[in-house]
Amino acid sequence: MIVLGTAQDGGLPQAGCDCEACRAGRGNPATARRPSCLGLVDGNGGRWMIDATPEFGSQLAELNRGAASRTGKTPDGIFLTHAHVGHYAGLVNLGREVMSGDGVPLWVMPRMAGFLEMNQPWASLVKERRVVLHEMSAGSPVQLGGQLAVQPILVPHRDEFSETVAFRIEGPSRRVLWLPDIDRWPEGWTDWLIDVDVAWLDGT
Ligand SMILES: [Zn+2]
Ligand SMILES: [Zn+2]
Repeated sequence: MIVLGTAQDGGLPQAGCDCEACRAGRGNPATARRPSCLGLVDGNGGRWMIDATPEFGSQLAELNRGAASRTGKTPDGIFLTHAHVGHYAGLVNLGREVMSGDGVPLWVMPRMAGFLEMNQPWASLVKERRVVLHEMSAGSPVQLGGQLAVQPILVPHRDEFSETVAFRIEGPSRRVLWLPDIDRWPEGWTDWLIDVDVAWLDGT
């Protein structure tokens, strides 16, 4: 598992922001942070990403470096949390103008799938089979290569265009919760933490 980003949609420094943290980030790239993104690597060199951010290029490069056994261009699949730009805008890199993706599996919730199919430029990615949509259902784990399972959990967030999910990831030795965006903590949310070793949570 490789943490490829931990910031909000706009990253840090954020365009146009004059706060102390963003000013510091501009002055010192070491304190800059990319939008939230998690890389998953299995023992056979399989590589998956959770979310496709505006910093997709550098995050994919880091994921590929981390999975040294394979240098394939596009990831073996991408899981999307929701339709806010910091979480899916990086898909543009799979289009013909950049990487010309070839059937990259995209795991999405049903409303998210409809959003991508109905709106350009995402609709072209689907039509040209740059990406292939796989619909998930809340609570049902997706098995990856026998070693990893990724389970979507619905969370409350501004759901204008899609559902919003967190992911519970189960590997051979550890379990992780990845929850980048949530607006309020619903009753019983701490149950999500009971059986995980590490939890990354929305801290805003
Ligand atoms: Zn700022
Ligand atoms: Zn969001």
